[in-house]
Amino acid sequence: MKDKLRIGWIGLGNMGVPMVKNLIKAGFEVGVYNRNEEKAKVLQGQTDVRIAHSPADLAANADVIITMLSNDDAVKEVFRGESGILTASNLAKLIAIDMSTVSPETTLSLAAACLEKGIAYLDAPVSGSVKPAETGELFIMVGGKEEIYQRVKSIFDTLGKASVYLGENGKGNVAKLAINLFLGITTVGLAEAVVFAAKNGLSSAELLPLINASVVGSGMTKMKSENIVNQDFRAAFALKLLAKDIGLATANGMDTPVGTALSSTLEAAVEEGLGDDDMIAVLKYLSKK
Ligand code: NAP
Repeated sequence: MKDKLRIGWIGLGNMGVPMVKNLIKAGFEVGVYNRNEEKAKVLQGQTDVRIAHSPADLAANADVIITMLSNDDAVKEVFRGESGILTASNLAKLIAIDMSTVSPETTLSLAAACLEKGIAYLDAPVSGSVKPAETGELFIMVGGKEEIYQRVKSIFDTLGKASVYLGENGKGNVAKLAINLFLGITTVGLAEAVVFAAKNGLSSAELLPLINASVVGSGMTKMKSENIVNQDFRAAFALKLLAKDIGLATANGMDTPVGTALSSTLEAAVEEGLGDDDMIAVLKYLSKK
């Protein structure tokens, strides 16, 4: 079945590129569109992937269109913009899957606009960063019609170690924002522990193995330990994207004490110019305080 689905992929960022590579490796026919077309060249040479010049062009030649984009505005732009997906004709059988982290409101408004054109819409954000994207071990949370989820499940099975169907549109987004609220709290908590220990004469190289061996050690603390010790802050998940997600949680009613402090800490770190670094670069901001 999977070889019969033609996939149009929009968004070749840190996550999009490894995800597309996995779909190609699994035998799907894949076309791509990226706003900055230069970036699509990373896929040339190793495959005969088709590079489209607009979202509409891509959608017109696909059974399933998948978006993996920075934020709400980017997703709205590729659907509603000039040459956006919704401007294409004959899309009645198209299935649109948005895997970006966006608000439930954006999903609901785009799902309604798609429905008017006969396009089915799933919100399917992912948990897991670049490494799980490379190894096909993302965790995928899906909202929309269950029948549509079943129809494209082979795609989720390729990209992830698991996908879970949660119910109506928007539920995938809510699940993702809740997980990232917890991720943000854990990230800043880890950074604060490292800063505290350093101020008292215990280096990160000494502290992190202890954290990882203790009850608070987690996949996240283990994943970031080497980066912290080596002061390697290249983005796997950019700090500005985490700040964006906490902003979305705030817009959806998050006003708890730790969450609110997290939000202002991340915003301050972005203002300090750390937005394009990895989320754990919040450590640099906290070290200076
Ligand atoms: P990224 O590397 O910053 O890539 C963003 C992509 O969005 C690029 O292809 C960019 O195109 C495109 N884009 C931005 N604004 C656009 C616009 N107005 N119109 C068209 N395209 C636009 O981001 P990423 O790390 O791949 O993350 C993608 C999504 O996954 C985000 O929602 C993020 O929150 C979520 N996510 C990320 C991670 C992670 O670890 N990185 C993990 C889970 C979920 P250009 O190349 O032209 O700029």
